[in-house]
Amino acid sequence: MVAYTPGEQPQGGGWVKLNTNENPYPPSPRALEAMRAALADEGALLRLYPSPDAAPLRQAAARLHGFDERHIVAGDGPDDPLNLLIRAYAGPGRSVGMLMPSYSLYPVLAAAQGAEVIRVPLMPDYSFEIETVARCGAAVFFLTNPNAPLGVAFKPEKVRALAESFPGLLVIDEAYAAFAETDCVELAKALPNVVVTRTLSKGHALAGLRAGYALCPPEVAEVLHRVRDSYNLDRLAQVAAAAALEDREWLAVTVSKICASRTMLSEELVRLGWKVNPSATNFLLATPVSAQCPASAATAAHAFDFLRQRKILVRLFPHHPLTANALRISIGTEVEMAQFVAAAKAWTKG
Ligand code: PMP
Repeated sequence: MVAYTPGEQPQGGGWVKLNTNENPYPPSPRALEAMRAALADEGALLRLYPSPDAAPLRQAAARLHGFDERHIVAGDGPDDPLNLLIRAYAGPGRSVGMLMPSYSLYPVLAAAQGAEVIRVPLMPDYSFEIETVARCGAAVFFLTNPNAPLGVAFKPEKVRALAESFPGLLVIDEAYAAFAETDCVELAKALPNVVVTRTLSKGHALAGLRAGYALCPPEVAEVLHRVRDSYNLDRLAQVAAAAALEDREWLAVTVSKICASRTMLSEELVRLGWKVNPSATNFLLATPVSAQCPASAATAAHAFDFLRQRKILVRLFPHHPLTANALRISIGTEVEMAQFVAAAKAWTKG
C-alpha cells in the first residue's frame, strides 16, 4: 500500500501558508480556557485516564446537532472515525466506494484493510448519477460533501436520494460543513445507513488538537464503540473540542469572515481571467491563466512555483483531469489574501 501524502508543513517562519485548509484565525478562547482548567493543580488531572468515550465532546456535539449522544462516536480527528468505519465495514470482498476526485485518504485506509476501492468519476460539471453510485457494489461509500478538492457542495435532495437508493453504508464526510449553506445531519438522524463525520480542524481552528466525531445510526455507533481504542481522545482534546463546539458565536463570526474573504478572492481572480470554482468550503480551486499560458497542468505548476518563490504555499492536485490545471488555495487572513492577490496579479501580468 501507498501512504497518504499530507500537505507540506514548511519549517521556519515567513510563509503565507494556504496549502492545508487550516483556519487562519486563533480558536475560540473558551477552548483555551477549558484546557487551562484541565491543567490546574499542576496538571494533577493528567495522571488520570480521560473519559473512555469522550463524553464531554459527545455531549457538546449532541446539544449542537440535536443528536442522541449515545450514537456519536468521537475520535482523534475525523480520520479516526473514517478509519473505524472502514475497519468495521470493509475488507476483502467488502469494497470501499468514493467519487473521483475526493479525499485521497480513503484508498489508503481501504488498502490497509485489504478492501478494494471502487472509484466513481465525477462528470465534467461535477455531478454524479445516483444510479451509478447506488449500483457500484461498495459496502461503504464515502461522499465528501462539500467536495474536496473541488470545493462544490452537492444538493441535500440529491444526497438524500442517493442514501435512499444505496444499499450499503453511506458516509458523508462533512469536514467543510461549517462553510456550506446546508448539511446532512438530518439524514443521519433519519436513515439507518447514513453516517455524517465532522472535524474541528477547519471551522473550529483546532487542526493541531486532532478532534472529530461521527453521527451514526444506533447499530453503527454500537459497532464503532466496540472496535475503537478504549481511550481514543485525550483529556485536553475532549474538553477543548467540547468548549469550541459550545461557542457558536465564535464560529459564526469566524466563518463569516472567511466566507467574505473567499468571495473577495474569487472576484479578484475572476477579474484576472482565472477560472474559479464555486466554493462551499474554506478554500478555492482556481485555474490560473495568463496571456502567455493557457490552462494546463504545466501552467498550474508554473504558477505554483512562482508563488512558492515568494513564500506563498498553495496545493497542486496533478493526478486528476478535473483538478490538474488548478491550484487549491486555502482562505487566509485578509492580509494573507492581499499578499496572494498581489502575487497572482504579478504572475498573470508576468
Ligand atoms: N475529510 C476531508 C474531506 C478532508 O479534506 C480532511 C482534511 N484534509 C479530513 C477529512 C481530515 O481532517 P483532519 O485534519 O481533522 O484529520
